[in-house]
Amino acid sequence: MGLRIGHGFDVHAFAEGRRLVLGGVDVPYELGLAGHSDADVVAHAVADAVLGAARAGDIGELFPDTDPAYEGADSLVLLARVCEVAREHGVEPLDVDVTVAAQAPKLAPHRDQMRSNLAGAMGLPVGSVGLKATTTEHLGFVGRKEGIAAWAVVLAQVE
Ligand code: MG
Repeated sequence: MGLRIGHGFDVHAFAEGRRLVLGGVDVPYELGLAGHSDADVVAHAVADAVLGAARAGDIGELFPDTDPAYEGADSLVLLARVCEVAREHGVEPLDVDVTVAAQAPKLAPHRDQMRSNLAGAMGLPVGSVGLKATTTEHLGFVGRKEGIAAWAVVLAQVE
């Protein structure tokens, strides 16, 4: 038995007329995120971290954005599927930590619901999912409110 780490990173641009879904929470805001699925940048970063730990490719490969099956897809469902893929590779996610960078809206009020949603999708206790939200002090594309970025690390156990 051994341990693995995985890292994931994702960015989605703000767009009008879209929902803002982060960690499975519908966050009230004047803009949403553009994307083929529900554009849940938090769930995508976590999914890529899990796939990194499993050495099993990335979500772009697993769920191509050219496939109509994933149009508007609930990314928590995709995350749950990614965890199944990891388990098929003999890799069990144990612990996750996420950082979300958004200049707006304020995400702290939604933090615990996001943690709970991610934990549910991954089959983990909520205490095994950490999540922090930060701004970028008005610097860069996040600071200009052009989009949201998320990073995730996963610790996983190998059979
Ligand atoms: Mg994405």
